[in-house]
Amino acid sequence: MSKGRFGEFGGQFIAETLMPTIIELEKAYKFYKEDPLFQEELTELLNQYAGRPSLLYYAENMTRDLGGAKIYLKREDLNHTGAHKINNVLGQVLMAKKMGKKRIIAETGAGQHGVATATACALLNLDCVIYMGQHDIVRQALNVYRMKLLGAEVVSVRSGTGTLKDAVNETMKEWTRRMDDTHYCIGSAMGPHPFPTMVKDFQSVISKELKSQILKAEGRLPDAVLACVGGGSNAIGSFAAFIDDLDVRLIGCEGAGHGIDSPDSAATMQVGRTGVYHGMKTILAQDSDGQVQPVYSISAGLDYPGVGPEHAYLAAILRAEYVPVTDEEAVQAFEYLSRTEGIIPAIESAHAVAYAIRLAQEMNPDQIICLTLSGRGDKDCAAIARYRGEEIYE
Ligand SMILES: *Cc1c(COP(=O)(O)O)cnc(C)c1O
Repeated sequence: MSKGRFGEFGGQFIAETLMPTIIELEKAYKFYKEDPLFQEELTELLNQYAGRPSLLYYAENMTRDLGGAKIYLKREDLNHTGAHKINNVLGQVLMAKKMGKKRIIAETGAGQHGVATATACALLNLDCVIYMGQHDIVRQALNVYRMKLLGAEVVSVRSGTGTLKDAVNETMKEWTRRMDDTHYCIGSAMGPHPFPTMVKDFQSVISKELKSQILKAEGRLPDAVLACVGGGSNAIGSFAAFIDDLDVRLIGCEGAGHGIDSPDSAATMQVGRTGVYHGMKTILAQDSDGQVQPVYSISAGLDYPGVGPEHAYLAAILRAEYVPVTDEEAVQAFEYLSRTEGIIPAIESAHAVAYAIRLAQEMNPDQIICLTLSGRGDKDCAAIARYRGEEIYE
């Protein structure tokens, strides 16, 4: 059980029937990670299809306006499908195809990971089935249409609260029923080993590019790297290349909803405790009986009751900091970045923008903040308008 551990976190807490498939996946991943042909093909897809490398943009207006540290934005919002998720999905789907799998299954909450997975399956010609909570299917009708348009089947999950955590449970169950020809393409740096490590590696392209881009622009490393944290994939991908650079602060921004003292928050690191869920040991939002609790954030992408196990570890050893950002702060940052830089961020990413606004003003003009803009905000405009009480027609 020491495999895939990050300190006491991580591991493989799965049904025995799934063990052979997980072992097969581990072996395949070990092989393809070192396979120059696979890496070359993946790089080709990332560059020619997803549009990498993504820009590192100097946010000059924002920097001037705040009067503190220089702010750079890593523009994952410019990737094909509008977010960082495509980095992981292209990696996993390409690998599954090489393993001889014919079919990809995945969970989705807001539908972003489902759309990215359906996109990669359309491109690489694999069958695709997306599991989505029945509640989310109603809330995210447009993304359901997108997935179907891309050729995927969408299965409604009726168990539990009919949301993301139930979709993960159901996808895991379906994988147990049908392993031979099917790969489970998990959407964040979570779940049983090897997923947290594999997803981190696929998302590390963010920090590898970022490191060389900032060295080129400034001749030195940033003082802080910021990213929002749902399951934690864009954050761990943004942190990865800097973990050994101890002078670089790593800061994960969680969705605090109505505040960490209210019952409506998704700031797992603030309100959670150690437990086991979805195949991993990590920090989880739980009630006093240890039942995993539903969480809340205005941002559907941050609305997950756990966090990837490596984040739990980085917090425990004090290598990374995790800070809560409320709905209201995130919405203000969403509006601020739109107005100041002409960039509409995903409401998830706006949580990191909100913290950068606070942090920059406490820092000096000779210091540097790099923040990952995990996605674009077109998808959020209707919800934010509603939040502000504006009438708009979708
Ligand atoms: C899904 C999503 C997130 C949250 O997922 P992580 O695994 O924590 O990165 C953040 N931003 C956007 C734009 C997303 O679509």
